[in-house]
Amino acid sequence: MNQQRYWNESALVLKRYSAGEKDRQVILFIKGVGKISAKARGAKNLTSPFVSRLSPLNVCRVLMYRTSSGHWTVTQCETIREFAPETHSTQKAMLGLTMLDIIDRCSEPEHVNDPLYEVAVETLEKLASINDEGKMEQLFNIFQVKTFEILGILPSFSHCTRCHKKIDLDKISGWDMLQITCHECEKLNPKRHARETFDKEYLKLLNYIQRNTTEASLKISLNKEQEKDVKRMIKTLWNAQTFSLPKSLDVLESLRA
Ligand SMILES: [Zn+2]
Repeated sequence: MNQQRYWNESALVLKRYSAGEKDRQVILFIKGVGKISAKARGAKNLTSPFVSRLSPLNVCRVLMYRTSSGHWTVTQCETIREFAPETHSTQKAMLGLTMLDIIDRCSEPEHVNDPLYEVAVETLEKLASINDEGKMEQLFNIFQVKTFEILGILPSFSHCTRCHKKIDLDKISGWDMLQITCHECEKLNPKRHARETFDKEYLKLLNYIQRNTTEASLKISLNKEQEKDVKRMIKTLWNAQTFSLPKSLDVLESLRA
């Protein structure tokens, strides 16, 4: 007997691809469940309500079941929020899709990560309403910083990464995106001359983003030079990870060129 369990949850659609003549396979990021791959039966049929609903960037309420062998199937779906990339600029659609790519890359199958789900949905909602390209980029940077924080990749920039003592940001010896050390620990750091350090002001910025909402962080205004630095800092973090840098980030770079 093939035992089935049912779920009725909010899901962000990450990817969708064809599976056979009539069906589609979708990668969903679901509240309380995590990332899963599910079959949407009959989704390629033009009269199927799945056709437009299960599109990347949309947030849907899905009714689905999982067989005892671990296969997921979506049986019903209603749209909670539709993104519709065709109604937005290429730049905006690309940023949205790159966010999905990042979520896909950073999440393990069926590993619950509700904070990441919340940040993703909030960011996409904001993205849909912004039209200023600079603000869109800023939103994308905030999203990445928050994602890194949720994944535990971003150090707490208020405590020494080595001895965990609280440090005065105005008196730090050295820092980079991976560690920040107090005077005592820095003396023992063999790599202290090799690290790529950034202006101390950025520590305050990162702390601010970590502690505040996306909405509040969006109000900070940065000049072109500072924006470049923030991008460089984020890239440093990406380069230190075991999961690879999304290809879409390269595509974004070429759009900006
Ligand atoms: Zn220390």
